[in-house]
Amino acid sequence: FQGRMVIYRQKDELAGLAIVFNEMMDEIEKSFQQQKQFVEDASHELRTPVSILEGHLSLLNRWGKKDPAILDESLEASLFELSRLKKLIVDLLELTRAENNRSLMVEKANIDKILHQLIKNLEMIHPDIQFKLTIDRILPFAMISEQHLQQILIILIDNAIKYSKENKDIQISAEQAGSEILLSVIDNGIGIPADQVHEVFNRFYRVDKARSRENGGIGLGLSIAKRLIEKYNGSISINSKEGIGTKVSMTLPVVTENGRF
Ligand code: ADP
Repeated sequence: FQGRMVIYRQKDELAGLAIVFNEMMDEIEKSFQQQKQFVEDASHELRTPVSILEGHLSLLNRWGKKDPAILDESLEASLFELSRLKKLIVDLLELTRAENNRSLMVEKANIDKILHQLIKNLEMIHPDIQFKLTIDRILPFAMISEQHLQQILIILIDNAIKYSKENKDIQISAEQAGSEILLSVIDNGIGIPADQVHEVFNRFYRVDKARSRENGGIGLGLSIAKRLIEKYNGSISINSKEGIGTKVSMTLPVVTENGRF
């Protein structure tokens, strides 16, 4: 009788193992398909500027010496495509770095200092834009590397500027809520259609490809921001109304006394 009990238990264990094994294989298959899709998308995105560059270079080769208008136009277009290609490569590297599973150094960021520095620089570059900054008077440090936080904020503020209309004013705020810091970037821009808001964190997703392309958008900024912030146990979400504006909200854990998450 005891022997049969053992056999039954072994059978159950085997069935359990088979389920776990199948689930693992499904996960591996899914991750493999996602990687394949990523390589396909990245190749496609890289091909576009390369083809345009090729076209302009052959124009230059044929007519450039005789026609100064073609020389000017094609040189300018080639430089634009080249800078686009460079940004694409840099962003792809950033994304791969943000996605790899290496554990991050536990660091603390002074959000107050970072935001003031960032706004000071942005005001110099964009004198036509009003940046309104609201920060809690006493704000604890956040658990994230300062360099990564800066990178995320630049992506969000850059988007707020790129997708604005005439009113380019941007509100940025930072406050503490319990064990988290809430950060938000608000613009009065073109907004995102309701049925596409959930897509914008996907790699290479752009609501309006033509508009994004015009202002250098590649569709990787929000993917990089999301992957980075989640590595630090934070979160990011978007609220948007088409034609009215967009609010991007982030949370980050505060540094506790023992300096851990
Ligand atoms: P991109 O380089 O195209 O800006 P992102 O990943 O940063 O790529 O954003 C993805 C898409 O989400 C953009 O192409 C744009 O359509 C939309 N988007 C992002 N931020 C905003 C914003 N603040 N206002 C309106 N649309 C936005």
